Amino acid sequence: MIFIISYYQYFNLEDNVSDKIINIISNSNYDSRKTTSRLIQILIDNGYTPTTTFNPSAELTICVGGDGSFLKAVHKNSFSTIPLVGVNTGHLGFFQEISPENLEEFVEEYKNGNYIIEEVKLIGAEIFTRTKSIILTAINEIVVKAQASKIIHLNAYVNRNHLEKFSGDGILISTPSGSTAYNFSNGGAILHPSLNVYELTPIAPVNSVAYRSLSSSIVIPGNYVVSIVPEKRYSSSNLILVDGQEYSFKGLKKINFRMSNKTIKKLTFENESYWENLKSKFL
Ligand code: NAD
Repeated sequence: MIFIISYYQYFNLEDNVSDKIINIISNSNYDSRKTTSRLIQILIDNGYTPTTTFNPSAELTICVGGDGSFLKAVHKNSFSTIPLVGVNTGHLGFFQEISPENLEEFVEEYKNGNYIIEEVKLIGAEIFTRTKSIILTAINEIVVKAQASKIIHLNAYVNRNHLEKFSGDGILISTPSGSTAYNFSNGGAILHPSLNVYELTPIAPVNSVAYRSLSSSIVIPGNYVVSIVPEKRYSSSNLILVDGQEYSFKGLKKINFRMSNKTIKKLTFENESYWENLKSKFL
């Protein structure tokens, strides 16, 4: 009996491998749909089984779109551990390795195993309300703001040590990969994705005789906990942005941030492409 089960499992596993399933997740714009049709044909010609319905047994997930589509795809598929690669049909394409003109070359390189798999670090937030606690995970950043563009007053702690009473538009907690996104627009430092750190960046901090807030970012060791405690009046008038997705919590008491235990895997085709990417996207 044991033999039969393991024999069955062996062939079942082999079946999945020989299926060479590749997920394709695309946004709905015209260029993405056109690119997806071409990609499907190229993959079939190379012996792969592309699917536009997410298959958890796939060996790779290809996201066609911009950075926003990449972020949405990762969230929608619950931070799946299947390696990801992006085809850029958007504007900046910081997460995207492939341009639509290079699809054939990409499939060839992939087939020949000429790639590196990078681990992308994520940030986790444990949200405590009066009645429950919820975990949220982000690839780029999590932002704590007040609703309706009001000023917010927040107490910030690092490993339970009080750091500051912040007043301003909000506090942004960024991952290394997210440091080139909203964090960068707020004057935050760019962190190399290999660093096991995250960043606390103030958004429009107020500095007057009435309020004193740190005006620069702080780089936090990955194993430290940052706690944000909003003043009571924001307990039900808060806005939490997770990679641009809005949440609001009733009875919000505290948010603890730390590097998540989860990571996602991203395909890279050139060693040290990070610096070239940074230069070409920003300068
Ligand atoms: P979107 O796809 O239009 O993205 C907004 C912009 O952020 C795009 O130009 C995109 O290329 C860029 N971007 C996203 N991730 C990046 C990264 N890691 N490095 C460099 N640039 C990056 O819109 P969306 O779906 O709302 O995307 C959500 C992201 O937009 C958020 O995670 C946030 O980082 C970013 N954002 C930026 C600002 C700002 O810079 N002022 C404001 C709001 C949101």
